[in-house]
Amino acid sequence: MRVGFVGLGAMGLPMARNLHRAGLLTAVWNRTGEKARTLASELALEAPATLAELAAGCDGVVSCVSADADVLEVVGALAPGLAAGALMIDCSTTAADTARRAAELLQRGGAEFLDCPVSGGVEGAREGTLAIMAGGSPEAFERARPVLAAMGRTVTLFGPVGNGQAAKATNQIMCAGIIEAVSEAMAFARAQGLPLEKLIDTLGKGAGSSWYFVHRAPNMVRGSYPAGFRVRLHAKDLAICRDMAARFGVALPVVERMLGEYAELIARGHGDEDISATFRLKAQLFTPARDNRS
Ligand code: NAP
Repeated sequence: MRVGFVGLGAMGLPMARNLHRAGLLTAVWNRTGEKARTLASELALEAPATLAELAAGCDGVVSCVSADADVLEVVGALAPGLAAGALMIDCSTTAADTARRAAELLQRGGAEFLDCPVSGGVEGAREGTLAIMAGGSPEAFERARPVLAAMGRTVTLFGPVGNGQAAKATNQIMCAGIIEAVSEAMAFARAQGLPLEKLIDTLGKGAGSSWYFVHRAPNMVRGSYPAGFRVRLHAKDLAICRDMAARFGVALPVVERMLGEYAELIARGHGDEDISATFRLKAQLFTPARDNRS
């Protein structure tokens, strides 16, 4: 399969590199064109000016862009160039409804769509060890398998289009609870005067450990939160979870709480930091008199 990649952000760039290593990547496109041209010249790939041109030269397109409206914009721009039978694999995190809408738009020209959101952070993207949650037809999934295997280690089809995003929404609720617990525990440990690096080494091997504790608690020690997974992107995902739960008349406490905390971080200008910046709010609980607003 000749694959084009759209969206060379924190996740997309290393995912594209892994597709190149697997010998599958032919062309790249990014909204800020310079990123695509730089990667294309480094890896000897095409960097077409438009999405329709990219689509015309590929049998498959992988996308990893920010949010729902961005995916639909990309789908609209790719559609005129995609041949009947072409496959679009969207690795962005969106609402399940958005995935279904994208599939409908592409179906008109005979192209197929798989929603394939990912989990594993920028480290997983770099190492090609992402967990990938797919939604779509079994035939499309089988065609996509070599592409997905180049980017992830655990690749699972959860049912029709939209079900990959429902699985990812489940994951995002867990991430919310875990990052909140890790931030709170680290603020507590710092207030106790514990040696924090030693603590991460030890508790990282204990029953309360998690990927977020091992990989993101060090950010809290350093007071530095490079993205990573941006606060505003997780807030976008939790708003999706809120809508999905609301259809059952349910407001999920973990989701509601984290949306409140993220709104505060975004209002203070921390929306583009990694979600471990939640530590800023938890640390403040222990130093209410100090100005922790920077
Ligand atoms: P990011 O670093 O902010 O990159 C976003 C990418 O999307 C950039 O290439 C950006 O182009 C492009 N983009 C945004 N709006 C666009 C539009 N309207 N049309 C075309 N391109 C557009 O984000 P990321 O962290 O890579 O996340 C990408 C997706 O993966 C999101 O859905 C996120 O929720 C999901 N995700 C992220 C992580 C993580 O740990 N970061 C983990 C799992 C899943 P420009 O370069 O022009 O801005």
